[in-house]
Amino acid sequence: MKDNNNKRISNVSTNFKSNNKNFNKVNNGVFVFTRSLSVADLAKQLNILPSDIIKYFFMNKKMVTINQMLDDDSIGEVCLNFGYDVKKEKVVSAENFEEVEIKDKKEDLKERPPVVTVMGHVDHGKTTLIDAIRNSNVVATEAGGISQAIGAYQKEVKGKKITFIDTPGHEAFTAMRSRGASVTDIVILVVAADDGVMPQTIEAIDHAKAAKAPIVVAVNKIDKEGANVEKVKNELMNYEIIPEEYGGKNIFCEISAKKNIGIDNLLENIILLSEVLELKSNPNRYAMGTVLEANLDRGEGPKATLLVQNGTLNNSDYVVVGTTYGHIRRMVNEHQKVLKTATPSTPVSVTGLSEVPNAGDHFMAFPTEKEAREIAERRRLQKEQVERSGTAARSLDDLYKQAKEGDVTSLNLLIRADSTGSVEALKSSIMKITIPGVKVNIIRAIAGAITDSDISLASASNAIIYGFNIRPTAALKAKAEELKVEIRLHRIIYALIEEIEGALKGLTKPELKEVTNGQMEVRNIFKANKMTIAGCYVTDGVIKARSKIHLIRDGIIIYDGELGSLKRFKDDASSVKSGFECGATIVGYNDIHEGDIIEAFEMKEEKK
Ligand code: GDP
Repeated sequence: MKDNNNKRISNVSTNFKSNNKNFNKVNNGVFVFTRSLSVADLAKQLNILPSDIIKYFFMNKKMVTINQMLDDDSIGEVCLNFGYDVKKEKVVSAENFEEVEIKDKKEDLKERPPVVTVMGHVDHGKTTLIDAIRNSNVVATEAGGISQAIGAYQKEVKGKKITFIDTPGHEAFTAMRSRGASVTDIVILVVAADDGVMPQTIEAIDHAKAAKAPIVVAVNKIDKEGANVEKVKNELMNYEIIPEEYGGKNIFCEISAKKNIGIDNLLENIILLSEVLELKSNPNRYAMGTVLEANLDRGEGPKATLLVQNGTLNNSDYVVVGTTYGHIRRMVNEHQKVLKTATPSTPVSVTGLSEVPNAGDHFMAFPTEKEAREIAERRRLQKEQVERSGTAARSLDDLYKQAKEGDVTSLNLLIRADSTGSVEALKSSIMKITIPGVKVNIIRAIAGAITDSDISLASASNAIIYGFNIRPTAALKAKAEELKVEIRLHRIIYALIEEIEGALKGLTKPELKEVTNGQMEVRNIFKANKMTIAGCYVTDGVIKARSKIHLIRDGIIIYDGELGSLKRFKDDASSVKSGFECGATIVGYNDIHEGDIIEAFEMKEEKK
């Protein structure tokens, strides 16, 4: 394929109105802003003094500095306080390229391969199917080298390509979607014919529906005894997955992934469906797409699998991924074949990026290094501003809460690991740790080495840094020590999880448990000065003055309160033992009856 570098449309020049000039302005008493602002900037825009804003926050128990970035809520608060209405306007600028909606001319659009994800219940045969497809009718010319897992692969069926995401299951799918990335055009739902619809089948249906991806059902294991295709069809109808033969719009394919039955038919049906879906994009623009996975290769540095979703990626393009940019050094497919160009729906493994991006990050290619560098820099600044304003608010907020309630305990974590896979695994394991009374916040989780900015962020937000399969440099260690940031390094996931769990248990406040000290029976009632004095007989334990009490009537606690006075004859008593009589009052409560039981108790800490 000839180099079409010159013909490609740059995504920036055609789609962005501005390079994020200042759009903030006051209009008819409404302050319109587009992004976070520093105290100084906001003051200037509102024609007030920075010290007015600082003072305002101070009065509201928040400390801000003149250069501090304010988040949307804080900007809104200031505006309202100084008499302006506020409106945040969304401006899609070059650095927010994930928000760009591309509208190509019809004649520029070309058919592109569908991107397919395999989902279904555990053990229903997802992995077996993915392998069966990968190995089905392999043409000699196709494999230009050893095939290597890069997270996705392409398969040619009747002269047309299909792109398969090869991490089965909906975890990866959901992780992508939660980062705002949607890569899947078609979902293959694998249902074992001998097992039928199971919990994860239903989850997969929900995820596919939420992503508006059409579902092709692969009824698997038809070779097995007890396989019942009709039962699967009937069960799926409860979830609005209806076969075409019953008037629905879902394709059903009967397969045996293990015995290689029906695979070609399944693939042909996917091609047919993708024709119906009219999946198209414009190959003649600079590429944009999503990072499928990424890791730090010991020899080659940051390495990422990119799925080109629109445009064409060339092997020497400048790309911005997440907040970094790079110059593609090497671009290969899953067979390790070096590619010069990658057209829409092609997954490629690239090197040459300056940092390991996150799975789900968007990328965009640019014609010049200058553009890529500037946009990456602006994205980095923007992210830092957001993080900083977020962190400041969060920690102040937390401090405030802790002071107010005295019982909020939280652990902030920052995670660095060797690959995006490890990051996702760690994140999901950590989020599964639940210890009552403790909130775990993962404030940053990225693949790659610990950086200077990690330490600053951890320091600013009282976070512990956890490193998995990575080692910080001596300089960073020194900085961490200086800022009193703790860095914990691990090589085994469960050891790391165990340690965090331990830390969390340490953080939990000892639980308070009620311990009964004694009981007394109310035998007489006296009224004096509008107060009810109960003449009691201690039946059990010791009653101490000022203790917390339950007032019990007919076995039901009718009041919780505190003892007022406690007297033996006319004298105040500090405590009355079992077998003795006493007079007692309950603070603020007079409805005591003869025959009631007063139980005294205290709250004691129970160590876990
Ligand atoms: P996954 O958890 O959905 O990825 O399921 P696997 O692909 O690991 O398959 C689970 C088990 O089912 C394995 O032992 C497979 O060999 C078996 N299996 C998968 N497909 C078939 C099939 O079509 N027929 C039979 N008999 N067994 C199958």
